[in-house]
Amino acid sequence: MRLVFLGPPGSGKGTGAALVSKRLGVPHLSTGDVLREEIRAGTELGLRVKGIVGGGGLVPDEIVNRMVFDRIGDAEAGFILDGYPRNVTQARDLDLFLGERALTAVVHLEVPDEEVERRLAGRLVCEGCGRIFNAGHFPPGTSPEACLECGGRLCHREDDSPEKVRRRLQLYHHETKPLLDYYSGRLVEVDGVGSIEQVAEGIMRSLSQ
Ligand code: ADP
Repeated sequence: MRLVFLGPPGSGKGTGAALVSKRLGVPHLSTGDVLREEIRAGTELGLRVKGIVGGGGLVPDEIVNRMVFDRIGDAEAGFILDGYPRNVTQARDLDLFLGERALTAVVHLEVPDEEVERRLAGRLVCEGCGRIFNAGHFPPGTSPEACLECGGRLCHREDDSPEKVRRRLQLYHHETKPLLDYYSGRLVEVDGVGSIEQVAEGIMRSLSQ
């Protein structure tokens, strides 16, 4: 299976892609995760993109294209791309790279802007294990300071501030949404509003149709 997950920031692309990856045994590649890892490790690439990612901008196409193509290689095991492509140029470059190994489907997770803003304002990421929580969903009596899984410190992502979320949403509407037309024949629509389990079921159902 060669899948692309498309949707606004905070739509649950990463969560959905990870679940589908586990269920179908297809490798998951998140360009955002790779970029954040490069930044954390202080590599040359990380230093180059730090300001762009932290500010909610888009990293130049040639950098993300190279990152993705190097990792999917001959694509024999298939892949689930999450956060890529993010504009029509990247989508064309991906099609050229894949040639006859065309995409199986493009999953579009639809979530309204207000819901995105609400989710990202409460999103907390564990510095230790990377698990994601929401400040609004903590069990009664617990405080959203330590990870429920490993006890690590929970932090807000630098690009989750309200101002940067607005910028990311603007970029999504201008740059990424045109991909819905580009991929019109290969699109699978999924309602991204609901519990993680409901959304995951929605994705699995639509992929089996
Ligand atoms: P989200 O989808 O919630 O915005 P991601 O983790 O997918 O978060 O991406 C985080 C950031 O990484 C983006 O705001 C952008 O700066 C950079 N990035 C990720 N993927 C791409 C891409 N395909 N093209 C350009 N920049 C990207």
